[in-house]
Amino acid sequence: MERMKRFLVVVMAVVALCAAAQVERPKLVVGLVVDQMRWDYLYNYQWGEGGFKTLLTDGYRCNNTIIDYVPTVTAAGHATIYTGTTPAFHGIAGNNFMLHGKNVTSVQDDTERGVGGNDNTRGKSPRNLVTTTIADQLQLATNFKSRTVGIALKDRAAILPSGHHPIGAYWYDKGSASFVTSTYYMNRLPRWVSDFNKKHRGELASDLNNLPLGTTMTFALAEQALINEGLGQGDVTDMLTISVSNTDMCAHYYGSHSPKVDSIYWQLDREIAHFIQVLDERIGRGNYLLFLTADHGGTHSYPRMTAHGLPSGCWHNPDALVAANALLEKQFGVKKLLKEEMEYTFYLDHELIAAAHLDYDEVMRAACKALEQPEEIQWAIDVANIDSYPIPTILKERIKLGYFPERSGEIYVVPRTGVYAGKTEWAGSNHGTWSQSDSHIPLIFLGWHIPAGETSRLTHMTDLAATVCAMLHVQAPNACIGTPIFE
Ligand SMILES: [Zn+2]
Repeated sequence: MERMKRFLVVVMAVVALCAAAQVERPKLVVGLVVDQMRWDYLYNYQWGEGGFKTLLTDGYRCNNTIIDYVPTVTAAGHATIYTGTTPAFHGIAGNNFMLHGKNVTSVQDDTERGVGGNDNTRGKSPRNLVTTTIADQLQLATNFKSRTVGIALKDRAAILPSGHHPIGAYWYDKGSASFVTSTYYMNRLPRWVSDFNKKHRGELASDLNNLPLGTTMTFALAEQALINEGLGQGDVTDMLTISVSNTDMCAHYYGSHSPKVDSIYWQLDREIAHFIQVLDERIGRGNYLLFLTADHGGTHSYPRMTAHGLPSGCWHNPDALVAANALLEKQFGVKKLLKEEMEYTFYLDHELIAAAHLDYDEVMRAACKALEQPEEIQWAIDVANIDSYPIPTILKERIKLGYFPERSGEIYVVPRTGVYAGKTEWAGSNHGTWSQSDSHIPLIFLGWHIPAGETSRLTHMTDLAATVCAMLHVQAPNACIGTPIFE
């Protein structure tokens, strides 16, 4: 009996070894997302050595990668990159959306609490993300041995990429000037994160969202994660997701061609150079798979466009809500029939419509008509009946792929091309629409099994997760609709 047992143990060990030997995988996958990095940024700057220049020369570039849904915003973008599917499936319908009738942020979770900052701050988690990510699939493929860490200044950019069971996700809390997490992940910050907060107390107290220092702090914490968690040092593939958030916030304030944004990109170039060097030394170029992409692009600002006679326009969304509600009140005698506006979508107040005994379809028709009044708006669409509208198929598809029932607004407004939400006197840029400026993003792979090269073939944001999983011989995330990029 004892001999039989020993024999079985040996057989099982051999089987396990063979199984492991059949799959070749890198030690580490590094996901790098640059918030609001339009594709053309890659070619707008004279990069220094080791950073973007290395990605452009040694990496494989997809020059025509498109986001296939609207709204093109941060939370939806990060979720899509890592799930290979769109808001219609993964549920992250925007940076904010309705959940059980309440306006919530994409990662808000009132059943959890903040950890590491001021006590009793609101909890956060990836629970609103209803499909699996690359990291989740890696865990399934390795019997939950694979380990992931997510890091960013923005909470959603740390939480959504790192999936449902990372060993940690950390983001910057301006209020407490520190990197924090939530009880979803742990009850106390790991020593290396609290040490980092102590060591950089002065720097973290600066406004990281608008300074190149924000990029430096993001990568410095990512490097600490690499060292202290031993990512890429185990038997199975680990993952590190890094998102650079200050590129977005700065462009919103100052516009995509401002010297402030330039200085953040110069710093980003240096940080990427340093980080590639760290990865090369610790993991080895052939042992990690890195990708760089963006969650969305960004418009050129209205003053810049009009100064050069190019078509552009602004549509001020809060004013649009007030104006449409005024028209509806005139017609139905009820105030605020439109409840909220979020990222080019509008929500009707269903309870109010029922209480006033109004006909829903009639209010819907009137609301769309009212929202189409401003010349900046080309269409206001009742999404449930989108197939009855004479709009191009490409736009219909993008609206459908971005629509998650209950969470998304039931009316989608399409501004004329070049028009974006904002005010003409603002110099800042924005995003959220289907147009090239917002939906054309960079996509570059570097490292493990990646040849230098480029393609201008049409690829999609959803292809990224499909490609990474295919390369790793890991099943794609459960709602992935992308196709592996085989080149
Ligand atoms: Zn943004």
